[in-house]
Amino acid sequence: MSTPFDYQALLDETLREEKKYGERGQVASYIPELRKADPNMAGIALMTTRGIFTAGDTAVNFTLQSISKVLTLLLALEHRGVEAVFAKVGSEPTGDSFNSIVKLETSEQKPLNPMINAGAIAVCSLLPGQSVEERFGLIADLLEKILGRPVQIDESVYRSEKETGHRNRALAHFLKDIHALEGDVEEVLDLYFRQCSILVNCADLARIGMFLAAKGINEAGKPIVSANAVRLVSTFMVTCGMYNGSGEFAIKVGIPAKSGVAGGILGVVPGRYGVATYGPALDRKGNSVVGISMLRRLSQVLDLSIF
Ligand code: GLN
Repeated sequence: MSTPFDYQALLDETLREEKKYGERGQVASYIPELRKADPNMAGIALMTTRGIFTAGDTAVNFTLQSISKVLTLLLALEHRGVEAVFAKVGSEPTGDSFNSIVKLETSEQKPLNPMINAGAIAVCSLLPGQSVEERFGLIADLLEKILGRPVQIDESVYRSEKETGHRNRALAHFLKDIHALEGDVEEVLDLYFRQCSILVNCADLARIGMFLAAKGINEAGKPIVSANAVRLVSTFMVTCGMYNGSGEFAIKVGIPAKSGVAGGILGVVPGRYGVATYGPALDRKGNSVVGISMLRRLSQVLDLSIF
């Protein structure tokens, strides 16, 4: 009988060798509360069919930020259907930064894709429900089904972004003007800020990754969302999940992934693993520097690239 692969040793080595690269990045500061993060934190988690393996700061809580865009897109596709979603948002990558306002005025009158802020805010407006609480309940409920525990938001990060999110507010009003946003602008923004403030740790992200790797089936073996919604979301993660760094990430790592400005990266290795990293020091495109280095090493050793 062959000895099982030593994932733990691989994660320990990955962390040891790549952790130093975090120094090349900077913690996000445009949301004041995020400045408090320790730039030296680094963690990696890998969820396999044999269970979860972790190394480094994988129990530290941080906010989902843009990783939440994956969840709202899944929900919008499930509740409103593919056609309704693509009536409000496109499917093309953009070479601009995640919160850019530049390409909003396209001939199509909708944001380029659901992974940039403008697209995610438009998608957010599609969630059904009578109130923000009810709509947020859908997101929290989905996460609870994936993680097997209730989730909370970080109230101070939520308030911090709600008070200072002028650019997102500008994007949302523009979207309303071009009919890409349904309902009340402030309510949609409130939902968006709440979803961005959901607290997770690196191990949780790896579980979300595994859920997507298993085409929407949770750890208890229950189908939670359709395989087609997971396919669409995973495709967006490849083409737009790391924003204007998605092409380079596809070359270096080659897996569907989604980053957030709090420092998390959620990775999916279809049919095999969920993988996640944490490291709040970011590159100029808003992606975790240490996260990308660790994922690159892991991808080389485990031959993870889907290409
Ligand atoms: N809440 C952040 C924002 O809207 C999310 C951005 C991100 O994680 N890239 O600016």
